[in-house]
Amino acid sequence: MTTTKELLRSVYGYDSFREGQEAIIDSVLLGKRTLGIMPTGGGKSLTYQLPAMLLPGTTMVVSPLISLMKNQVDELVAAGVPATMINSGVTVDEIKKRLTDIKNGVYKLFFIAPERLEDPYFYRFIQALPLSLVVIDEVHVLSQWGHDFRPSYLASVDLIENLSNKPNVMALTATATQKVQADLINILAIENTVKTGFARDNLAIKIEKGLSQQEKFDFVIAYAKNNPDDIGIIYAGTRKLVDETSELLVKSGISARAYHAGMLDHEREAAQDAFLYDECQVMVATNAFGMGINKTNVRYIIHLSMPGSIEAYYQEIGRAGRDGLPSETVLLASARDAQLQRFFIDNADNQTPAYRQRELAKLQEMTGFTATQNCLQQYIVQYFGEQIPPCGICSNCTDTRELLDMTLAAQKVLSNIVRMGQLQAGNYSKTQVVAVLRGKLAEKMRWTGFDTLSTYGLLSDWPVKKLNQFIDYLAADGFLLVSGEYNGLRISDKGICVLKSEQSVMMREIKTTQPIKKTRSQN
Ligand code: ADP
Ligand code: ZN
Repeated sequence: MTTTKELLRSVYGYDSFREGQEAIIDSVLLGKRTLGIMPTGGGKSLTYQLPAMLLPGTTMVVSPLISLMKNQVDELVAAGVPATMINSGVTVDEIKKRLTDIKNGVYKLFFIAPERLEDPYFYRFIQALPLSLVVIDEVHVLSQWGHDFRPSYLASVDLIENLSNKPNVMALTATATQKVQADLINILAIENTVKTGFARDNLAIKIEKGLSQQEKFDFVIAYAKNNPDDIGIIYAGTRKLVDETSELLVKSGISARAYHAGMLDHEREAAQDAFLYDECQVMVATNAFGMGINKTNVRYIIHLSMPGSIEAYYQEIGRAGRDGLPSETVLLASARDAQLQRFFIDNADNQTPAYRQRELAKLQEMTGFTATQNCLQQYIVQYFGEQIPPCGICSNCTDTRELLDMTLAAQKVLSNIVRMGQLQAGNYSKTQVVAVLRGKLAEKMRWTGFDTLSTYGLLSDWPVKKLNQFIDYLAADGFLLVSGEYNGLRISDKGICVLKSEQSVMMREIKTTQPIKKTRSQN
């Protein structure tokens, strides 16, 4: 009998499995319902492809994006594994032919989009197959806690569960917080979860703050010019900004392409192909680009603004350095970024209070990422429920500025928040806390009596911006808790230790302007 190791060598030409791969494969081959969680680039594809080759019958892969399917089918066919896909991009005649071939056992694997299951003809067709395994890729979209929740997917899960030929089910994702994980285990009746380390130690994660839009443009142009042999992705928050940035890059003599949902299908495909086949240096895109793009030599990812969640951010930066070589990610964060994300949340379709609450909580975690002074890699990995030592290469780990003792200022802020809450029950927003600390309570808030507190005006000499950033920092590093629609502030246990002088607050001066115009090649 062929072993998985032999297939690994003969089909893929690899000598050893990566962390987690063998555990997932063995679990699936034992017939267990398996959830595989690996970071982007960790090697998930192999974990369903090998079982598909070894199991009797056929494997059906349910995948959310057509572009992703095409890629994977092409790669499999190139490696000599019979695979095909059934989707709306294929003619009816061709679909008929492919289905006949699937029935005749020509293919070990076929890919479909989830909506296909709702076609009764197709559903009857797959029930008549010797279907060994159903793979659900990018499975985090099934969880309301996932970063790209698609409620319509839940219907496909029911259809899969009701298949009369009872195939085993495996599910894969790169992003799973504890909450998503628990959700998926429940929805899919998962028996075995394999989760590998989330740290990507070849990624140097950097944040640059306080750049104007023009300075951001200058930054990306200089970056691309200084790294002419490297391929990168630049993520922009809006379609307009994608177009603008790519035009500027092209004008500066850099081969850049644009990609966003507002373009025609064939334009998008052409841009994606140019990128995949190294015909352009830089891809400027919205978050519509990248899912399932298997390009291993992306050396840098630059975000022109902050994404709405750590999950989304981590998935996007995870597209750099999939070959394991040193790569860099730069987040050009501005104070306004949270407002743009807030706008997206406010204007999302099918809003529910629960949805808002979840999205706001995720946005808060992401904002914390831009304010923390601890290791950035650590912050992300911790968000996914894992502990690692500091990475040593992120922009916080390599920040050599001296640490200042800010304990006294922190105590002023924290005790002010406690006192406000004692006087008028409730959690108060940053704006209100800042107003009281600066002794500038608005007329309409006078009823609260906050101006009678001993902490009123205690930091009147601090500019608003600095105080705002200091509070962001206290929240990011866990001295304060932020919750609710209005980002109400509360003291954490860690904050209480500071008030009791059991813990000090050591931090570097908060960066406001002065960009570091460093590029990778100068490091
Ligand atoms: P994911 O789907 O988890 O993002 P992929 O399955 O696309 O990741 O794999 C990322 C890259 O790693 C691919 O180029 C793949 O060929 C490579 N890879 C996967 N498994 C191994 C392995 N065991 N040894 C070496 N390279 C591997
Ligand atoms: Zn670090």
